[in-house]
Amino acid sequence: MSDTVIPIFVQQHLSIPPLRRDAGLPLADVAGRGLRDLRISVTDRCNFRCTYCMPKEVFDADYPYLPHEEVLTFEEVVRLARIFAGFGIEKIRLTGGEPLMRKGIERLVAMLRETLPHIDITLTTNGSALKAKAAALKAAGLSRITVSLDSLDDATFRAMNDVDFPVAKVLEAIDAAKAAGLGPVKINMVVKRGVNDHHIVDMARHFKGSGNVVRFIEFMDVGASNGWRMDDVIPSREVVDRIDAVFPCEPANPNYRGEVAKRWRYKDGSGEFGVISSVTEAFCSSCNRARLSTDGALFTCLFAQQGFDLKTLMRGGQPDDAIRNAIAAIWQHREDRYSEIRTAETARQRKVEMSFIGG
Ligand code: SAM
Repeated sequence: MSDTVIPIFVQQHLSIPPLRRDAGLPLADVAGRGLRDLRISVTDRCNFRCTYCMPKEVFDADYPYLPHEEVLTFEEVVRLARIFAGFGIEKIRLTGGEPLMRKGIERLVAMLRETLPHIDITLTTNGSALKAKAAALKAAGLSRITVSLDSLDDATFRAMNDVDFPVAKVLEAIDAAKAAGLGPVKINMVVKRGVNDHHIVDMARHFKGSGNVVRFIEFMDVGASNGWRMDDVIPSREVVDRIDAVFPCEPANPNYRGEVAKRWRYKDGSGEFGVISSVTEAFCSSCNRARLSTDGALFTCLFAQQGFDLKTLMRGGQPDDAIRNAIAAIWQHREDRYSEIRTAETARQRKVEMSFIGG
């Protein structure tokens, strides 16, 4: 590993705060924010080395990925998901790392579906293994899927994923997902100035009228290894202006309160796209997402530096009630609003890697 990289984040857990008995359901944090979404990282490994997420120089052969015994089993994931469901969560997103690299992921989806028949179960993937798995994921009960694709230009995409993976295979995977009934597929494009921003309009053009929905994501200072600089961020406003200049568009209402992407629809009726503006228009005040890391720690913010260890409670034989109270107490004390207070200084903090707590 090169000497110049920031040292690897060392996981330390926060102690679980006391439960405030006065606070009943629905659960609310100190800012009155509820708990709606649960993101579960099912592996901290990925077969891509996207330069903005898991750069090769850091995530090399010496990188200390979690040992197998530290990774939550499917049974543990389902148990936690069931306890979270008791708080009224509406959506679970499986992510990582690359979730399709987790062996038997379809079985996990089926187990979650059987336990939680009415919850939206979604998954975010780089698409590399999706073509082969789309039908099985659908049959297992997956509701929808999000596929990451940063450019339609093959050379740009290969350089960004840094493992020479071609665009064509991701496009085939998107088609396969749609054919399997996992549509409308959401397509995530992280926009980085000078790297792929000249492909924004091409991306919009390609998926316009397809029924699928592209979401343009501002490059974020997640983790501690992606060399983030404000200068590299293309504000979502600029993304919208560039698309609007070619394909006139107008804002659309959110599907629900706290929706991450702001929706824009094409005035010619040919569909919509979204922008995710975590940097320039922070949406902390409506953030209702909890994140479960690959090793079973609860994180209450994507930009957190520490989480709360639920796995030890589970493996220590604690009953569901005790775990439920721990989650409630953690949420009651939640104060995070990182994106609202971001500065160049905070961007350098050693935050936990996105691959570990799930994007
Ligand atoms: N491997 C899967 C994938 O590629 O979609 C799931 C995990 S990935 C961490 C989830 C999402 O986070 C992807 O859409 C990815 O592009 C996005 N992401 C990763 N690093 C980011 C960053 N620094 N800023 C904005 N989005 C980022």
